[in-house]
Amino acid sequence: MRTPIIAGNWKMNKNPKETTEFVNAVKADLPASDKVESVIGAPAVDLQALLDAAKGSNLKVAAENSYFEDEGAFTGETSPKVLSEMGVDYVIIGHSERRQYFKETDEDINKKAKAIFANNMLPIICCGETLEQREAGQTNDWVSGQITNALKGLSADQVASLVIAYEPIWAIGTGKTASSDQAQEVCHVLRETVAKLYDQTTASKVRIQYGGSVKPANVKELMGKEDIDGGLVGGASLVPDSFLELVNFNA
Ligand code: 13P
Repeated sequence: MRTPIIAGNWKMNKNPKETTEFVNAVKADLPASDKVESVIGAPAVDLQALLDAAKGSNLKVAAENSYFEDEGAFTGETSPKVLSEMGVDYVIIGHSERRQYFKETDEDINKKAKAIFANNMLPIICCGETLEQREAGQTNDWVSGQITNALKGLSADQVASLVIAYEPIWAIGTGKTASSDQAQEVCHVLRETVAKLYDQTTASKVRIQYGGSVKPANVKELMGKEDIDGGLVGGASLVPDSFLELVNFNA
């Protein structure tokens, strides 16, 4: 059985004070982490505040990016080694905003995934198609290619423990959610991709999130789908009450 995982992705929002206030507002009402994993992904500048406030609670912490080298002359980058030392659990990599605005490639994402495992954290690896690709019928091949490239050289055990996030670009921040059937179809394709690259056991263990305008009103239906194990949530994760409704979707 896969433990559901609901992760907020705050993107470039909130300062350390707002981060502490958010955690203090939610931490008593989070589900037990063996029932539903609750994660917040925050900007690097807020991670220490997030970790401090979340200590002893059921909230896990994600960084929104990291570099693939541990240290060195890489001005402006964030070390995965230091994220791990700080106590970060997950690192989101390959988000469409990073691919689009910061030119991250599949190869970068693969190197980052390896560096994250080398530092005892887990990656949340994002993939997703544009509206043009969907309309041209290319979605399944495209996302399956993105994930195939991201997983190169990882062991079956590593893949079984990581998280894949399917985020159709046209559904991000637009209020347009993929229908639960559309989301399920692609999440199933991704699980089949893992089965082909590895085996059925690995595919049955890897957790796959849907992201793109997930909110309290649609989370239950999405989470009811066979291959959808969680949500990666932007806008609706910024407000304590709505984050609590999301993580308590099955309460
Ligand atoms: P929204 O939930 O705001 O559509 O953002 C989705 C997303 O990009 C999460 O990574």
